[in-house]
Amino acid sequence: ATPTALLVGTGRGAQLGILIRGPEVLESTRRVDTVVLDKTGTVTTGRMALVDVVAAPGADPDLLLRRAGAVEAASEHPVGRAVAGAAADRTGPLPAVTGFANRPGLGVVGEVDGVRVVVGRPRLLAESGLVVPEEVARAVADAERRGHTAVLAGWDGEARGACVVADTVKETSADAVAALRGLGLTPVLLTGDNAAAAGTVAAALGITEVHAEVLPAEKAAVVAALQARGRVVAMVGDGVNDAAALARADLGLAMGTGTDAAIEAADLTLVRGDLRVAADAIRLARRTLRTIR
Ligand code: ADP
Ligand code: MG
Repeated sequence: ATPTALLVGTGRGAQLGILIRGPEVLESTRRVDTVVLDKTGTVTTGRMALVDVVAAPGADPDLLLRRAGAVEAASEHPVGRAVAGAAADRTGPLPAVTGFANRPGLGVVGEVDGVRVVVGRPRLLAESGLVVPEEVARAVADAERRGHTAVLAGWDGEARGACVVADTVKETSADAVAALRGLGLTPVLLTGDNAAAAGTVAAALGITEVHAEVLPAEKAAVVAALQARGRVVAMVGDGVNDAAALARADLGLAMGTGTDAAIEAADLTLVRGDLRVAADAIRLARRTLRTIR
C-alpha cells in the first residue's frame, strides 16, 4: 500500500503548482545530484525576437524575410515563430508554402513562389547544396558572438542572407538556478542552439557546464553520459526535442507551458512553467521522504 505521507506529499505538490505523475515519483528525486536545464523555453522565455536581417550582396532583405517567414509560418519552433511573425508584420500577409518539411534541430524547408526555400543552420543549407557567401558567414559569426541565433535562408543554390533572433533569459531563472544549487545540485545547460548563445545564457546564470549544438536526437545521450559517470540526473525541458531526454533522466520535469510531448514524457510538471518550482519539488520530495523514514 502507498504510504499516506506520499499521498500527502502529492497533494502538497498540487498546491505548489507541481503535478506529480504518481506518488512513487517522489522517491526518484531523493538521490538527484545534477539538474540538466534545456535553454530555449525553459531558462529563456522561448519568445524570440527578430533583431536583424542581413542580406547577401545584391539580395533583397525584404524578399529574404518574406520567403523565410512564409516557410517558418508552418513551424512551431520559437525561432520560426519569431521569423514568421516579423515577416508578416513588416511585409504583410505571407505567401502560401507547399511541401513543408521540418528538420528537428536544423531548420525548415518548403516551396514559396515556385522556389525551394531552405531556412536554418549552416549545416542544413550545406546539406541542401546551397553555397553560403563569405559576407553571410561573417554576419552569422558576428551575431553568434553577440549571443544571438542566426538563421540562414536561401534558394536556387545560394544563401540569400540571415535572420538574426534573440532570446531573453526569464527574470526568475537566476533565482531558480541559485535555489537548485542551494539544494546541492550541479546545474548543466543543454541546448541545440549555438555555443556562443548558450555561453551567454550560462554566464548570466553562473552555469559552468554547457552542452551546445546538441541535436534533438542526441539530448538523451547527453543525459545518459552523465548517468554513466555516476550522476543522478533531473532534466527540465519544454520541447518536443526534450521528450526523450526527459524520459531518460532519473527525474523528468516538464514546463507546464511547454509541449504535450514533454509533459507526457515527464514525471513532474511545473504547472505555471516557473523554474523556481523545480527546487520546491525537490525540497518537497526530500521532506516527504524524511517523514516516512
Ligand atoms: P533548443 O535545444 O535550444 O530548444 P533546438 O534543438 O530546437 O534548440 O534548435 C537548435 C537550433 O536549430 C536553433 O537554435 C536553430 O538554429 C535551428 N532551428 C531549429 N528549428 C528551426 C527552425 N524552425 N527554423 C530555423 N532554424 C531552426
Ligand atoms: Mg526548449
